[in-house]
Amino acid sequence: MPNKLGVYICTGCGIGEALDASKLAKVAVSEYKAPVCRTHAALCGAEGCGLVRQDMTQAGVTTAVVAACSPRFKAEAFNFNHGSVVERVNLREHVAWCHKPKDESTQMLGEDYLRMGIARALKTEPVQVLAEVISRAVLVIGGGITGITAALEAAAAGYDVILVEKEEHLGGRALLSRRQAQQMEERVETALYHPRIRTFCSSQVLKIQGQPGMFDVTLQTASGEQTVRAGAIVVATGWKPYDASRLAHLGYGISPDVVTNVELERMAGDGPILRPSTKQPVASVLFIQCAGSRDKDHLPYCSSACCMGTLQQIGYLRQQDPEAPVYVIYKDMRTPGQYERVYRQVQDHPMNFFTKGDVTSVKVWQDGRMAVTIDHTLLGESITVCVDLVVLATGMVPNGAEQILNLAYRQGPELPVLQDGFPDSHFVCFPYETRRTGIYAAGAVRAPMDEAHAREDAMGAALKAIQSVELATRGQAVHPRGGDTSYPSFFLQRCTQCKRCTEECPFGALDEDVKGTPKPNLYRCRRCGICLGACPERIISFKNYSVDMIASMIKAIDVPEDDEEQLRILALVCENDAYPALDIAGLKRRQYDPIVRVIPLRCLGSLNIVWIADALSRGIDGVILVGCKYGDDYQCHFTKGSELASRRLDNVKETLQRLQLEPERLQLTQLAINEWDKLPALFDGFAQRIKELGPNPYKGF
Ligand code: SF4
Ligand code: SF4
Repeated sequence: MPNKLGVYICTGCGIGEALDASKLAKVAVSEYKAPVCRTHAALCGAEGCGLVRQDMTQAGVTTAVVAACSPRFKAEAFNFNHGSVVERVNLREHVAWCHKPKDESTQMLGEDYLRMGIARALKTEPVQVLAEVISRAVLVIGGGITGITAALEAAAAGYDVILVEKEEHLGGRALLSRRQAQQMEERVETALYHPRIRTFCSSQVLKIQGQPGMFDVTLQTASGEQTVRAGAIVVATGWKPYDASRLAHLGYGISPDVVTNVELERMAGDGPILRPSTKQPVASVLFIQCAGSRDKDHLPYCSSACCMGTLQQIGYLRQQDPEAPVYVIYKDMRTPGQYERVYRQVQDHPMNFFTKGDVTSVKVWQDGRMAVTIDHTLLGESITVCVDLVVLATGMVPNGAEQILNLAYRQGPELPVLQDGFPDSHFVCFPYETRRTGIYAAGAVRAPMDEAHAREDAMGAALKAIQSVELATRGQAVHPRGGDTSYPSFFLQRCTQCKRCTEECPFGALDEDVKGTPKPNLYRCRRCGICLGACPERIISFKNYSVDMIASMIKAIDVPEDDEEQLRILALVCENDAYPALDIAGLKRRQYDPIVRVIPLRCLGSLNIVWIADALSRGIDGVILVGCKYGDDYQCHFTKGSELASRRLDNVKETLQRLQLEPERLQLTQLAINEWDKLPALFDGFAQRIKELGPNPYKGF
């Protein structure tokens, strides 16, 4: 069907007062020969949308450009469910609300945005949605408290579950715990007899290949190898205690009467707590909190469950001896929320003594008891306490990095992890997502947590796994572009096997053949466009996002060649943080220089450096890129995007120097969405510097 363009200009919400709509219409009709062009006082209302729909159904409009509010608003109103391309142009938040009304520069800005929107729309093609046969089964790896909870939740929601446990029995650590064992036995029973849960004990994952909706998982079971198909995976492999042999400075190893909290739990499960060296009931105990935690030489993080664990273990001791003195030496007692009530209750007992302090030595005293010396106590004194038993509250180490998944992925067999061994994820926005699509981490393998939080985490991960298979069934992406049906296609005839795309894809979506040609697994793809930015041959594109499309938008900007005062700046901004931040600036009516033209990118990592070359060779005077924060506490929704853009930019800066263009004409800034109020000043500051540099000498070439 031939392309028929319809352009719809809204004059509501102050747009009509700021811009001359007839001049905008002239751009559409004269420059782009739009056969249909309408203005309306409230395009988002029933009448306005009705006009657009009518043009699609009766006048054959196949490409509709709606110049009105930000595309982040009124999505439902402008979803015509028709199969036509709909492109939104942000005249409200990015023009009318943040620039002087009825001003020549504001009008030029509005007209440029309309040109860019039409250029983009004309390059957009309808997407053919992926439609493979999808498995809805959820594979849960780990049969402890988290894994069993995830399995039961997914099964209760009507999904088949394959539960894999490496030990002979389900239950995990909870079976060794005095306070959890009974409840866990009941849950194990429920899981074992649940008609939707297939359990494999004494089993391990040998290999996972495929993609969400189509994972083929080879298991080594007690009766040999077996392959099962799953749609999504929950990794609930739990934790192991920190290696206490590294805590000799806290007395571990010098006497059997120095034990860890995990060992004490086992001792308590076996009956009364006895002093290991004498086998007599303990008459006094000292707990050392944060033993090897929050310590740069050991675990740098807080394991979050040990403070509450100690309070519960004091309860065991109290049951067997109400008078035994118990000492707790802490850096901070961390008992958030309702746990604080437990802390107060335990504190109130006259024989429980809590003090902040630094343990400086743990020795065996003359009478065989343990002597613990503590500095910097709350009293400001150094004290020595003699006790029957010292308990080290050691922390959690995730069971995640080593040979759990055995993914047959080009980018490695396990989940990418952060420096502490927890899976890399976007902690703020998408905590369960890992960097392998369709694979969700839950419980203590994801972050240190206690049993109550692990159960909640398991429910969250089970829901994410269900969401993943349901989205896959509809050919849609998961977070953060949930619902997106577009996907990259590769024109492989021109691939030079440089491997940049397969190396830079943050989600391991691309495998390779022996020569290094990418083999896309589209259901693993998060649609970030980072591969598109990486490819030097520019052969990766989406139907609605491509190098050519952004280049056409840049080309559509009207660059006045005969007016040295009229400079132009291109702002390539991340659509996840910077673009909404600009919308907020508009909502707050914050003004900034109207020489800036904004183009949103799926991720700054999708930046193809050819766009910068295109912009500068077109006479654009400066290019500013605004992306998410990167580094250890990154905010990038695609984990590495803005960092990759920054690396690519280093190469461009050298090119600029060769062209004798000032490197200051190019700037990358990291910005979080809550820093929206800095954006107007950022744009103004950059515009000022560009004005000082003067016009781009390549203007008009
Ligand atoms: S769009 Fe993103 S997730 Fe998909 S293949 Fe490219 S780099 Fe990987
Ligand atoms: S980046 Fe482009 S040229 Fe390089 S391997 Fe990937 S598709 Fe081929």
